Amino acid sequence: MKFKTKLAALYSVVGCLTVPVVVYALSCHIMWVCVYALVILCVTVFLSALVIRELHRRQRQLSADVAHELRTPLSCLQGTLEAMLDGVWPADKARLESCREETLRLARLVSDLSLLADLEWEHITLNKTDFDLSKLIETTAGYFQPEAERKGIALALETESQIVHADYNRAAQVLINITANALKYTDQGTITLGNRGKEVFVADTGAGIERAALPHIFERFYRTDASRSRGTGGSGVGLAIAAALMKAQGGGIRVTSEPGKGSVFRIGF
Ligand code: ADP
Repeated sequence: MKFKTKLAALYSVVGCLTVPVVVYALSCHIMWVCVYALVILCVTVFLSALVIRELHRRQRQLSADVAHELRTPLSCLQGTLEAMLDGVWPADKARLESCREETLRLARLVSDLSLLADLEWEHITLNKTDFDLSKLIETTAGYFQPEAERKGIALALETESQIVHADYNRAAQVLINITANALKYTDQGTITLGNRGKEVFVADTGAGIERAALPHIFERFYRTDASRSRGTGGSGVGLAIAAALMKAQGGGIRVTSEPGKGSVFRIGF
């Protein structure tokens, strides 16, 4: 996004610079310089208009996506609260608890979106240090051990010592998002966390991802049908954040998957 803004600014500057050239060329009757500068002026004006239009389109799309994602849970919440106020439903502990859960989920979504916006506009400062990837992986696996045990899924480690220069907390956030997904979309088998040199991988034996969906899973709000039908409660921003966090650190994420067999996410530092 920031890149496109810079591009639009660059085009505008180049366009503006050609104006005095045209004026000078006209005053000196140097026709070929004049025509050449006019062509450059028209092309840069056209290109900057295109870039600005694309930026506006993205902004409108983001607003529409956010409104769409917030509308349904908010109207559910409103309906439940009104039914309790009107005495249609009793305001019992279970219903109040589910309202609270929904507000917490909405609050999480809003903070995820705010982080995503900061990442897209590069309003984020990285605190890079040297750390061992194997430590990051072992710590993250530790967080998920209780949940894996509860689901009866084995959590395996295949780490090797490897120092990288990156933002530890942001890297942890990426690994947490991807491991949480692995657990969410796996009902049995094993989830393996490990690294080969500077590449961290999370392999699961879960639902897998259809080939047609693979190019889209890092898009904001994208969720596969499998995710919707499972009612995972996911909002489709976890991978968009993970990808943006890795891009900000000069890395990236790749995925390979086979429906019904599982997926492997590879995070390159
Ligand atoms: P969500 O909050 O819905 O999980 P994400 O952005 O984290 O959103 O993931 C986007 C979509 O990618 C998910 O809805 C799911 O369909 C798919 N996905 C991500 N990780 C996995 C996985 N390990 N196994 C199967 N599907 C996955």
